[in-house]
Amino acid sequence: MTEKKSKNVITTGPPAAGIYSPNQQNLIRPITTEDVTQDYLRCVNCGYCRDVCRVYNITFSERDYAGGRNRVLKSLAKKEVLFNPLTIQDLVFKCMLCGACREVCPVGIDTLHVFRSFRVRAVNAGVIPEKLAKVRDSIIEFANPFMEEGTHRHDWCQGNACNEGYVAWEKGVELYRKIESGELKPKDVDPNLVAYFIGCTSAYRNNELSSATCRVLDAMGVNFIVIPEEKCCGSVLFRTGVDDVATKLMKYNIDLIRKVGIKEVIFSCAGCFSTFSNEYVEYTNNNLGFKLSHVTQFIPRFAKEHNFYFKYNLRPKEDPLIITFHDPCHLARYTNVYEEPRELISMIEGIRLVEMQYIKKMNHCCGAGGGVRALYGDIATNIADSRLDETVECWDQINEDRLLEAVETKAESLVSACVFCKNNLSNAASQFKPDLPVHDILQILENCKVVRIA
Ligand code: SF4
Ligand code: SF4
Repeated sequence: MTEKKSKNVITTGPPAAGIYSPNQQNLIRPITTEDVTQDYLRCVNCGYCRDVCRVYNITFSERDYAGGRNRVLKSLAKKEVLFNPLTIQDLVFKCMLCGACREVCPVGIDTLHVFRSFRVRAVNAGVIPEKLAKVRDSIIEFANPFMEEGTHRHDWCQGNACNEGYVAWEKGVELYRKIESGELKPKDVDPNLVAYFIGCTSAYRNNELSSATCRVLDAMGVNFIVIPEEKCCGSVLFRTGVDDVATKLMKYNIDLIRKVGIKEVIFSCAGCFSTFSNEYVEYTNNNLGFKLSHVTQFIPRFAKEHNFYFKYNLRPKEDPLIITFHDPCHLARYTNVYEEPRELISMIEGIRLVEMQYIKKMNHCCGAGGGVRALYGDIATNIADSRLDETVECWDQINEDRLLEAVETKAESLVSACVFCKNNLSNAASQFKPDLPVHDILQILENCKVVRIA
């Protein structure tokens, strides 16, 4: 296992810690977006991105943060250095594509775009890690990354596994049958009907999340279907440079949803939501034809429209469960969803939210992004553990800030809204902090009553 190192290391370069004022939005960009893959040439090696890079803060390798990587890319472009494919592989894939570096870069380099573009180039040149090649091949053959048969995609709700999910799936099958037979026109479909896109990981591995989502939606009285023939959204492929296969899947999913006239698609998977919100929207030139909502957006909106709130069954209002919220990168920097999850938490009686230091735009990635969990498991686990440390530190800070009011406050649960964050953080918690439970927000909501306001 990679040795765990202190994150309070003193580095050379600017004191970036705590100084997150540089922001590309404040700057006039001297190049056009067409030139963006050449953006790394503008890197001035200021080092602002070093402190925010969680990978660098574990490995301390100069190649592992944006500025250092840019320096190597410049040398490679000038043919000053030659690397073997394995070193190149490390260079382009040991990055979570979390986007924290892009937020702090004072010259406005779109690091995410640069590093994604280099992944595409590396893959096109035959440099692809074996594990990712297997994922790619599985998605090509099975339309999911787990080498599972497509016919088993909705096994999670069959039989008595999740009745609410089964009903929604049956409703979806019936809707497609009616549209395909001409019995129903897409324009006549109930405009309030929403479709729940499950995503591969919740469909094949984390059934607890797809089931919890369906139970919560059902308890709220939402008119929804499970899309019977959905396929992988292509997220992993887009983020690992296998764009051609990802684009085929994207076209398939768009056509599938459009053909039944559904007006809104909801997601519990932050990765699928981000892929639809970015790649799908861009591909259709901002004309997807249906609205996209993450459940953390849909649920509070629906609750306000229908006048209800939630009551947590396991703790009373007077003794609430104290949680902190980990912003998933795919909800935060990728799709700018910051306030709605917090609004949702505020609607739950019996839950109290207290914030960590690094949240929202400057959240620290859980460690799972960009394929790092699959390729560099030890790094992902160490990064997740440092996020758990922050959860605990968050309470220490509160003790200092609020003195007596918070003396007895303790971290009780770390809550997120992304299956990958939950898995990676739970894995680290089981190893290093078994007393700190990690939940997805849906698992909290599943244990709530819907309380109608008279
Ligand atoms: S990528 Fe931006 S923040 Fe990082 S070293 Fe280069 S100029 Fe500085
Ligand atoms: S995207 Fe995240 S992991 Fe990658 S270099 Fe930037 S800060 Fe580091």
